[in-house]
This record gives sequence, structure tokens and C-alpha cells, in this order.
Amino acid sequence: MPGLQIQRRVKYQEELDADFPRRVADMPGAADLNRCIQCGTCSATCPVSSFMDLTPRRVVAMTRAGFKEEVLRSNTIWLCASCYSCTVECPKGIKITDVMYALKRLAIQERAYPRHFPTPVLAREFFHKVRQTGRSNEGQIATVMILKTNPLKLLRQIPLGLKLLVKGRMSLWTEKMSGNKRQLQDLLDYMDTHKELR
Ligand code: SF4
Ligand code: SF4
Repeated sequence: MPGLQIQRRVKYQEELDADFPRRVADMPGAADLNRCIQCGTCSATCPVSSFMDLTPRRVVAMTRAGFKEEVLRSNTIWLCASCYSCTVECPKGIKITDVMYALKRLAIQERAYPRHFPTPVLAREFFHKVRQTGRSNEGQIATVMILKTNPLKLLRQIPLGLKLLVKGRMSLWTEKMSGNKRQLQDLLDYMDTHKELR
């Protein structure tokens, strides 16, 4: 994937983030990273590892070593398809899929994800739309995501979008939430400021 390759260079100990492994391990499901024996089973079993710039085994090793920038900017955490194959096969019972989710959250919090990569933009737009209206709207969210990541693609998607609109499978109008929207916003804001609850 051109443009998403990580530039690798030798890093000195003082350039690493010593607190990064602890922050990741504090997130749900990611506590057992230190048990990794670097056997590589996760990478071997991962169906999309050949497309990743860092294999799952490397993500675990680099997270433990404090390579925060490299890990959070890698495309690996966004290409992970959450198939759980690595988690099932890991001989040390490490929940690698959950580790990938933890890293995604940190990458969004720190705005360290690859620019113009659709998945993090989609996650952010979904959150904003639900917070704003109390409802999701696939048509609007997909349109904003394409405009922010690859605007030219929008032209190619117009025929498909029109078909979905005609068939009633997509709407440009957002349904109104019937309950108390303020309560939902307070809940989402609370979770946003208390990251440990996520
Ligand atoms: S399968 Fe488990 S123990 Fe082996 S490298 Fe992956 S995370 Fe580490
Ligand atoms: S959960 Fe993600 S990292 Fe693990 S095998 Fe599946 S795609 Fe690969």
C-alpha cells in the first residue's frame, strides 16, 4: 500500500515511549502482552498479514518495546479484520484481537492514524453522527468518509448510491431520536473523557 509504509530507522532507547506498553496493557483484553514468546503463530495464521506493514507478532514486540509512533501509525491495526484467528491460536492465550482494538483507540485519541485511511475516519464520523443526532446514517457517514479520504472515488460511487436510494436501502435524511438526546450525549462525553471505560 503505497504511502502507508513506515519509514524505519535505528532508534535509541531514549526515543522510545517507556509508558506506552503500560498504557496498552491497561486497556481491556490487552493485559497479557508480556507473556508473548514471539513464536509468530499469530502472523502465520492471520489472513491479511501479507498486506500489513507490521505483522501481528511485530506489533506485539514493538508495543512491548515502546515503539509508540511506529505502532500507532501502522496500517496493521486498521487492516485487522477481527477474525480472532490469532487469538484462538496463540499458545500463550494473548488476546491479540483485543490488543488491536486497544491500539485503534489510542491511535484515534492521539490522532496518529494514517491520514486518508478510511477505517479511522469512518469510526470518528460514526461517533460524531451518533452524538449529534442519536442515530446513525450510513449514506451521510459514507459520503463524508469518501470526501475526506478519496474525493475522486465519490464520482465512481454515485451510480451505486442512486440505486440504493431508489431501492430504499439508503437515505440521506437522518431519523430523529425519540428519547432524551442530551442523556445520550452526556453518556458519550463521559465515556470519551474516561477512556478506561471504553
Ligand atoms: S502467537 Fe502469541 S506468543 Fe506467539 S508471537 Fe503471537 S502473541 Fe506472541
Ligand atoms: S484478528 Fe486481526 S490480527 Fe488477528 S488473525 Fe484476524 S485479522 Fe489477523
